[in-house]
Amino acid sequence: METLLNVNNLVTSFRTAEGKLQAVRGVSFSVDEGETLCIVGESGCGKSITTLSVMGLLPDNGEISEGTITFQGQELTKKKEEEMRKHRGNDISMIFQEPMTALNPVFTVGYQIMEPLHLHTKLAKNEKRKRAIELLTQVGLSNPEKTLKKYPHELSGGMRQRVMIAIALACNPSLLIADEPTTALDVTIQAQILDLIDDLKEEMGMGVVMVTHDMGVVAEVADRVMVMYAGNVVETGTVEEIFQNPKHPYTKGLLASVPNVDEEDHSLEAIPGSLPNLSEKITGCRFHPRCPYAMDKCKEEDPPHFQITDQHQSKCWLHEEVPSNESRHKAYS
Ligand code: SF4
Repeated sequence: METLLNVNNLVTSFRTAEGKLQAVRGVSFSVDEGETLCIVGESGCGKSITTLSVMGLLPDNGEISEGTITFQGQELTKKKEEEMRKHRGNDISMIFQEPMTALNPVFTVGYQIMEPLHLHTKLAKNEKRKRAIELLTQVGLSNPEKTLKKYPHELSGGMRQRVMIAIALACNPSLLIADEPTTALDVTIQAQILDLIDDLKEEMGMGVVMVTHDMGVVAEVADRVMVMYAGNVVETGTVEEIFQNPKHPYTKGLLASVPNVDEEDHSLEAIPGSLPNLSEKITGCRFHPRCPYAMDKCKEEDPPHFQITDQHQSKCWLHEEVPSNESRHKAYS
């Protein structure tokens, strides 16, 4: 499989009254054709800012201060907005969390599906309509001709999300970025939308980056997982490695807070404390104020990424040597 996207040492900052603050701190990852990478972490950990950086959709006060983003061999961080517009909705598409805010309430579904075709293809009007009907059918909407004439408010939440996916797929993107695409939906519709994205990925050979805070979603769709905390990648691995052999204390905490339906005790062990503010100065490992395994060294030095296996890395001092203190293993177990 070819590598579609390569992000290397990405640093994204925001200009604020308190100075320039880093939301993404040296993030690196890649996505191959036909692969789903899930980016996971609590709200505010930098996962959405990472994907908005890839899309070139940062707010006005945001900027990529360091690093490279290479998509199909082209460096995106140097591109002007006009050039980025040629990629967005064409070979890179994005689905947002809340379709009601992403869809334009004053235009019909048909207009909004045909817009990317108008921008990025030379299809004639009747061919665009045909393609729009084909897309609505592909995303499982019955009566697509009638749906084309509807406005977003006339559709249910699940239908709106399917329309968003149809818009995102209009130009057969190579890479689909989905930011919490099912959070606003009920569980049954959520499962249908995840299956749909997975089927379309198989059918079209797309690479998918799925942003989520939900480990249940990760278990269902991911090939590989990247766990983020306070702007850093703290662990990456295959979905099996992350679920069966998590290494980083934060990943263990995230997994411990997922209810296990097979066990009688359904209590959640949430990770104590909360994410630091962007302006908070933390020396050493940024997770140390919340980490049950923290050692003196953790408060002073930022750990590097330790290689666990070929694809598995964890940014934690515990991997520097075989831990001799049994108590390190007690928390979250
Ligand atoms: Fe915890 Fe230290 Fe590992 Fe950070 S480096 S996660 S504080 S043990």
